[in-house]
Amino acid sequence: MVWNENECLSKDEKEKIQLERLKKTVKLAYENVEFYRKRFDEISLKPEDIKTLKDIEKIPYTTKSDLREAYPLGLLAVSRDEIVEVHASSGTTGKPTVTAYTQNDLDIWGECIARGLTMAGAKKDYIIQNAYGYGLFTGGFGIHHGGNRLGAITIPISAGNTRRQLDTMVDFQSDIITCTPSYAMYLGESRQKAGIPLEDINLKVGIHGAEMWTDEMRKRIEESLGIKTYNIYGLTEVMGPGVAQECSQQNGMHIQDDHFYPEIIDPKTGETLDYGEPGELVLTSLTKTGMPIIRFRTKDLTTLTEEKCECGRTTVRMSRITGRSDDMLKIKGVMVFPSQIEKALLKINGITPNYLIHVTRPDILDEVEVKVETTKELFFDEVKEMEKLEKQIQASIRSETGLRVDVTLCEPETLPRSEGKAVRVIDERKL
Ligand code: ZN
Repeated sequence: MVWNENECLSKDEKEKIQLERLKKTVKLAYENVEFYRKRFDEISLKPEDIKTLKDIEKIPYTTKSDLREAYPLGLLAVSRDEIVEVHASSGTTGKPTVTAYTQNDLDIWGECIARGLTMAGAKKDYIIQNAYGYGLFTGGFGIHHGGNRLGAITIPISAGNTRRQLDTMVDFQSDIITCTPSYAMYLGESRQKAGIPLEDINLKVGIHGAEMWTDEMRKRIEESLGIKTYNIYGLTEVMGPGVAQECSQQNGMHIQDDHFYPEIIDPKTGETLDYGEPGELVLTSLTKTGMPIIRFRTKDLTTLTEEKCECGRTTVRMSRITGRSDDMLKIKGVMVFPSQIEKALLKINGITPNYLIHVTRPDILDEVEVKVETTKELFFDEVKEMEKLEKQIQASIRSETGLRVDVTLCEPETLPRSEGKAVRVIDERKL
């Protein structure tokens, strides 16, 4: 089932809608947001110069630091009395980035999530256990708006309190669990530990995003909760979750491309690439009016395809995020992505994919310590067993990345998290 006909348009029909909406967005931004007007004026570009979709390439990129400079509400395209909600990124690496929504923007957000819930098989009588954090973080409220739009029952349980999550799952017979993938893993393990049989829960579907995860992790979540999982994508700067999501084919995420225009670029040169080539995703909002965003560099590395999906939708699909252009670590001259470490960890039984990569340079050489959370039983086992496991992890990381690292096992839930998301890298080198 498809929520909205715009998900199945022909290329011509879609491009017509996209162009019309792009022109409107550019005009709105130019006329009302000083930041965009300056950027356009600097290169003598006028909104009327955008005549085709390809003309979008004439417009300069917008970056996270542009958003930070406009903190908190410097990029509004409407007056403040039209804004009804704001959200913000955590600001762990600087000032937070804020996004502001009009009622119409919230309706669009709800619509995008409702499309995703429908892709995952949700119906009006479904119970959604929403274990994304409620607050400034977009996860909780985003899914909530979508659940309301679909007409399902949303339980706003928010993140954490695992025992209560499990009880709620059993008592309410929740159909869907929405949370970060690392928390889904933890819930699955906790269910097993609590001795709750799969027959006692009614979960069918998990919708997970807000952090990077791998197919190995998907397998573990699906087995431990007896569900089918769907990858959801989004970012605070553009809207929040729901920009894209997987359908039943689990083969790439459908971008809601009548609302967000996707481009793929070379992260080093900024040059536009063809679909099919791996690069950095750039997004332009086509319908937002509170805070339109034009050519936002997401830093997320992916591949786009416009091949028609088996599910019948024609929206552009993006592959699983393989890394972030600014997450890429260069250690001892070797390029490493945190996702590679995760992949290596998930090949080993008894550990969780919660890890922290700690990079230092005490003298002239880089040193890497990977801290890994184990399960409770394992942590209290013999020291000899722990050492054996550490060696095993070390070997697995070495074969995945080519790097020799120190491994330290930690107790469950001791590594730092923000907004329920695991913090993956601490780089203390002065580079
Ligand atoms: Zn599909």
